[in-house]
Amino acid sequence: MAWRCTGSTNTELLLNMRKSEIIKSDRVFAAMTKVDRSKYVRNPSAAYQDSPQLIGHGATISAPHMHAYAAEHLLPYLHSNARVLDVGSGSGYLCAVLWQLLADDGHAGSEFTAKVVAIDHIDELVSWSVDNLRRDGLGREVDQGHIRVIAGDGRKGVPEDGPYDAIHVGAAAPTVPDALIEQLAAPGRMFIPVGTEKQQIMQIDKDAEGRVTEKAVLDVGYVPLTDREKQIASMRY
Ligand code: SAH
Repeated sequence: MAWRCTGSTNTELLLNMRKSEIIKSDRVFAAMTKVDRSKYVRNPSAAYQDSPQLIGHGATISAPHMHAYAAEHLLPYLHSNARVLDVGSGSGYLCAVLWQLLADDGHAGSEFTAKVVAIDHIDELVSWSVDNLRRDGLGREVDQGHIRVIAGDGRKGVPEDGPYDAIHVGAAAPTVPDALIEQLAAPGRMFIPVGTEKQQIMQIDKDAEGRVTEKAVLDVGYVPLTDREKQIASMRY
């Protein structure tokens, strides 16, 4: 099912995902329309293929259908004063989509407190992703701090900006990091690939009383959420 959504333009890719019911909501469709995937890849001629693409440093930009699934699952928590954390932010593509989803829900001038915080442990990817966001017209949001991209170990989260209504993790964790569960707001939702050889997306919900429940939603294959040194070493082979 995954690869059949490839299009020759951003719009065609999105329409194919809509037809396949990977994109279910008008909000996700509209938000993804505003983000041109060709601004977030190394090889723009393959930008609208429904497949992951290498972005250097042992990382990939995830396939469009995975970004769409993530956005659909987190959607109920993406409102105009939400805080969102994107761990393993790589290209910055999903930060842009998440931002467009926060901004579509009543962009209300100075009272607009929505924030997307993104973290990746590769400095070069952090600066490249900021360039990508600027090329995609989001320079003002970066300058105003509505989108903050930082370098660091995402397994520890970013406590100073939390708690987060929604947390997306873009790399597979052997187990769910405690710090991320702690930094999830009540209520809040996390979308995280978990596992090593066999991985599943887990949807982790914290209710208003702080009770945490989880359910598996999909079998997947992500790059690992790991140590920086291990990721860099893995590239030599
Ligand atoms: N979601 C991104 C990138 C996916 S690849 C996109 O679609 O573009 C996974 C990313 O996780 C890589 O960029 C990698 O550098 C990052 N990563 C892996 N382990 C990490 C860790 N411990 N802390 C922060 N980032 C990590």
